[in-house]
Amino acid sequence: ATVTIEQPETDSPVVAGVKISNPDRRVFGDAGFTKLDVARYYERAGERLTEIAGHRPLSLLRCPGGLEEACFFQKHGHGAMPAALQRIAIEESNGETADYLYATRAESFVAAAQMGTVEFHIQGARTDRLDRPDRLVFDLDPDEGLGWDDVRQTALDLRGWLSDLALESGAMVTGGKGVHVWVPLRRTQGWDAVRGFAKTLAHVLEEKEPKRFTASMSKARRKGRIFIDWLRNERGATAVAPWSLRARAGAPVAVPVGWDELANLKGAATFTLTNIDTRLAAPCPYLKQANSLHTLDADTATRLQDW
Ligand code: ATP
Ligand code: MN
Ligand code: MN
Repeated sequence: ATVTIEQPETDSPVVAGVKISNPDRRVFGDAGFTKLDVARYYERAGERLTEIAGHRPLSLLRCPGGLEEACFFQKHGHGAMPAALQRIAIEESNGETADYLYATRAESFVAAAQMGTVEFHIQGARTDRLDRPDRLVFDLDPDEGLGWDDVRQTALDLRGWLSDLALESGAMVTGGKGVHVWVPLRRTQGWDAVRGFAKTLAHVLEEKEPKRFTASMSKARRKGRIFIDWLRNERGATAVAPWSLRARAGAPVAVPVGWDELANLKGAATFTLTNIDTRLAAPCPYLKQANSLHTLDADTATRLQDW
């Protein structure tokens, strides 16, 4: 007689209301994490992510075949995209209008993870006021030869220089090699002022300590130096979001850190999917500083020159 074994329902797992297809697909081969692990991480981090990365135009780094296959950036919405990712029409530099994506809740990030998204990158302005950035970011990019100590010291020094300008800043380790130093801004200035401030400060620091810093993207000029990447502060530019996973070996996470914490940290990629939950549960230094908003007055650039 034939025995019919009833097949168990092989429904896709549901995370934050989103059905996850191919849940067992390896995303981080080396660390063994799957697409389901990524989706579940974004569910756990969803509230924190929404606080910081919510309501901002996004750039998604999608790796649908895992890190071993090709990854690509996507910033525009197309036909078949999950409804949990909202859309906003933005006029681009060429005068044409395109749909951008933004998140509003944990489900948005999980829906993006279902599409193979590993990293979330954010613009420096929120969707209700795209012409007024609220986030200034200095992305510290060390030359190959430089060690963690140099990057960390630069971040600490930059904090001091910003503080001299009455700007309170926060730090984020990227999960890669560098640190992002960011300043929450009151939305009183446009992109020209914010970009101009970042550009001027980077160039002033290069002049001040040319052996340590460069304000130029050129790899040749970076030799033994740290590139103070001020270009994150242009309209439409992005920086990786705090709490985003990175599509790099070991599944590192970009994490906002307190200044005392940074001083004792062993590297920019010490937080990973393996240990992030303790960090997620701890109080977030980012939020304490989110209240300290400052105006960039017109004299600031001039004062910088006289340092
Ligand atoms: P690391 O610490 O290793 O430098 P990072 O995230 O700062 O990590 P960068 O290469 O310095 O990496 O890039 C800074 C930011 O610029 C990124 O976080 C990303 O948001 C943005 N970016 C860089 N390249 C691209 C790209 N091709 N498309 C979209 N955004 C990009
Ligand atoms: Mn960087
Ligand atoms: Mn950079």
